[in-house]
Amino acid sequence: MPSTSAPAPSSVGPSSGSDQPPFGDEHRDLRETIRRWCELELRPHVDEWEDAREFPRELYERAGELGFLGLKYPIEFGGQGGDYLHDAVWAEALPACGSGGVAAGLGAHTGIATPPIFKFGTEAQKERFLRPAIKGEKVCALGITEPGAGSDVASIRTFAKKIDGGYLVNGSKMFITNGVRADYLVCAVKTNQEGGHQGLSFLILEREMAGYEVAGKLEKMGWHASDTAELSFADVEVPDENLLGEENKGFYLIMANFQWERLLMSLGAVGAIDLAIAQTLAYAKERQAFGRAIGSFQTIRHKFAEMETTLYAARSMTYDALRRFHGGEDATAEVTRAKLFSQRAAVDVIDECLQIHGGYGYMREYGLERALRDARLGPIGGGTDEVMKEILGRRLGL
Ligand SMILES: Cc1cc2nc3c(=O)[nH]c(=O)nc-3n(C[C@H](O)[C@H](O)[C@H](O)COP(=O)(O)OP(=O)(O)OC[C@H]3O[C@@H](n4cnc5c(N)ncnc54)[C@H](O)[C@@H]3O)c2cc1C
Repeated sequence: MPSTSAPAPSSVGPSSGSDQPPFGDEHRDLRETIRRWCELELRPHVDEWEDAREFPRELYERAGELGFLGLKYPIEFGGQGGDYLHDAVWAEALPACGSGGVAAGLGAHTGIATPPIFKFGTEAQKERFLRPAIKGEKVCALGITEPGAGSDVASIRTFAKKIDGGYLVNGSKMFITNGVRADYLVCAVKTNQEGGHQGLSFLILEREMAGYEVAGKLEKMGWHASDTAELSFADVEVPDENLLGEENKGFYLIMANFQWERLLMSLGAVGAIDLAIAQTLAYAKERQAFGRAIGSFQTIRHKFAEMETTLYAARSMTYDALRRFHGGEDATAEVTRAKLFSQRAAVDVIDECLQIHGGYGYMREYGLERALRDARLGPIGGGTDEVMKEILGRRLGL
């Protein structure tokens, strides 16, 4: 009997397209575990967290308890002893929670804030900052962007003046994911006013340091369940032992981190596209119009053919970049292409999925309006589309 009302919002999970190199059986098991966690413990609550403009802090501890915050870190620091591929599975599976904000809050902690501590930190810094972060007891954020410096990283103004035993930091940071409740901020500062990007360094700032202030929690188009902050620093005294890596070598750290951040964003976009298509396919097979399932109209069928092709292209580019990155190659071009392609693809495909849902797509219950708002950050964050095109265009000698 043809149904007269709309099919209920689908709980269909993403396809199994991610079962291909570089991933194997152990990755499939991990992916299933993360998806099940999303389905059982996150998805039922995300509406509430979106309204509250943050998810509970305890979620970091829960994710830590399940081992998700330390997948790629050594067992000696409380990690799972895996590698970048395990973290890649986490990034692609997490969109199944149905909230870009939750994925961003957990993802910024694991994907951009703790990696520099692991890669460039001393044993003592890893013990002090990484271990509690892996447990989820402490929340981390990465602070690069400033009110006057986003794409143009070299124009960062926050200055760390050398004083006896440490630094005196003055300045501000903008759009910092997890910034409101982060215990530690891995923060880019200038240590040499003359040096352009040669004068950049990284300091770990701690929220209880005098002069460190959350200047504002920012209201956003999407990512509602994540907190995004403006931070200000007035004469914050930071001890020498909180210098991460070498002084004036911070630009290298930023660039190294960017490759992984862009790969993670590409994986997240692939996960989000996959999920949106799977849900919309289930809907199109059920929803009736003019006496037939809407999926049987040729126009709609062709939309799916195009969206599937886009998903395949985004996934192939991303996995190729991931294989190269994981293999130790310089994968800058591949990562940049994957980021450029996948972020815009996510916006376009999710918009098409919303269209296929008709008026129901515009309703909150079906999750697509949120997915579209969340996806819109992709072409901006972690390096804009225009910056990606600059990187690729310049490589051609232009
Ligand atoms: C929700 C959210 C979360 C974020 N989280 C973090 C975080 O955790 N940590 C952090 O450090 N940052 C974070 N960011 C900042 C983000 O990385 C920056 O917004 C982004 O890098 C762009 O910088 P901008 O906003 O200053 O834009 P601008 O650099 O001012 O760019 C404005 C426009 O000019 C274009 N443009 C700039 N330079 C060029 C050029 N050379 N050629 C052509 N066009 C150009 C840009 O593409 C863009 O369209 C976040 C941002 C948002 C919105």
